[in-house]
Amino acid sequence: MATSRRKFDFDIVIVGSGMVGTCLAALLAGDDALSSLKIALVDPAAPRKPDDRAMDLRVSALSRASERILTAARAWDAIVPHASPYSDMVVWDAASTPERPDALRFSAAETAEPNLGHIVENLRVQWALHESPLLRGVTEVRSALAGLEFDENSARVTLEDGRRLTCQIVIGADGSQSVARQLAGIGRSGWAYDQTAVVAHLHTGKPHRETAWQRFLPNGPLAFLPLQDGRVSLVWSTTPDEAASLQAASEAEFSERVAIASDHVLGQVTLASGRAGFPLALWHARAYVQPRLALVGDAAHTIHPLAGQGVNLGFLDCASLVQVLAAASAKGEELHGLRVLRRYERWRRSENAVVMGVCDTINRLFTEKSVAIAGLRRFGLSMVTSQPYLRRTLVERALGVGGDAPQLARRIAATN
Ligand SMILES: Cc1cc2nc3c(=O)[nH]c(=O)nc-3n(C[C@H](O)[C@H](O)[C@H](O)COP(=O)(O)OP(=O)(O)OC[C@H]3O[C@@H](n4cnc5c(N)ncnc54)[C@H](O)[C@@H]3O)c2cc1C
Repeated sequence: MATSRRKFDFDIVIVGSGMVGTCLAALLAGDDALSSLKIALVDPAAPRKPDDRAMDLRVSALSRASERILTAARAWDAIVPHASPYSDMVVWDAASTPERPDALRFSAAETAEPNLGHIVENLRVQWALHESPLLRGVTEVRSALAGLEFDENSARVTLEDGRRLTCQIVIGADGSQSVARQLAGIGRSGWAYDQTAVVAHLHTGKPHRETAWQRFLPNGPLAFLPLQDGRVSLVWSTTPDEAASLQAASEAEFSERVAIASDHVLGQVTLASGRAGFPLALWHARAYVQPRLALVGDAAHTIHPLAGQGVNLGFLDCASLVQVLAAASAKGEELHGLRVLRRYERWRRSENAVVMGVCDTINRLFTEKSVAIAGLRRFGLSMVTSQPYLRRTLVERALGVGGDAPQLARRIAATN
């Protein structure tokens, strides 16, 4: 790519500066083999500084792999003071209780890990990435992608404000409705779930004990994620009708309904924030790459939030793509060619498909109302509970360090 400066405005144009797009920009800029590349980050929305006094409604459970990748992106130090580590996870069926043997319990104490992950505001992650010293050399462009043209010599990006940028590679990191994917003519498979996730923050009668609680109800899972200030973040996936009625209910009625639906696992709860609803879907792009184009994060895959994996998979995409490009650069290969980009696609598409399939199966199994399936489901849960090896494998997957994880997810990077 040494000659690219003379021919192109940028080497790489990343479309979308959400958590995933900004992480990719930082990792590219921080990689020794790629740091000379000229990178643009295109998004009409400027990142918002988090408010220390009012935590935003959108939070994510970040895995160990994400912690390591965000460390390499030089963002983790700014995130960790605001992150809530969780050491335990309890999952149970509506027909059971958290104390019964068929409840699934994972504990960091069973592993060599200090915790199972951290709960963090999305805004905090995005802001920390934006403030990373690695972003200093990245050009931020405030406009939306409106057109894409490719030929064998270049990619041309047309922005909504009429500007045109030429580059070698376009990366679509523009979320589940990705305009980059659509303009590139890449289809997707999947479906909208008949579910909406209602999110809110709650005060609870009993302490959360750094535990993520999840109860599977017939319409979908209800989760309490522990927050650093002692509150919990509610993620309740249910039918769109029930979600609308929960959002319209008075604060007292909402709190009462959540307490009943959670089987009072943390006692009485009180709404301590606004409420929002997110329609849920599973989408998988039919291809992640074309010559001069790659998709990462929700632009490539959108997943049910029940296992808290969406952005974790996105960060793994970023680390994998950077690893593939760095290795190709070291060998003197053309980075924009299908030969190189397909290595990323082969790697990540199959890894993501496994996690997507597992999450979809869990959602179907738990929303299945037949008595026979309910019995099978409880049997399955008690099987997992009684098998330490199986539990350890699941914990490794949840931590993001199992499977074919990229190098940055396997170790803490030096950040000097
Ligand atoms: C209720 C809920 C709970 C979740 N919980 C978890 C969790 O616990 N753990 C987890 O890992 N994941 C979780 N997720 C998933 C996670 O939120 C997403 O995977 C993540 O936000 C995707 O990030 P992204 O950067 O790929 O896309 P986005 O966050 O959608 O960002 C896309 C960016 O692209 C920009 N953009 C859009 N169109 C254009 C355009 N035309 N031109 C330029 N820019 C454009 C947007 O402005 C935006 O900044 C959850 C999701 C939901 C709905």
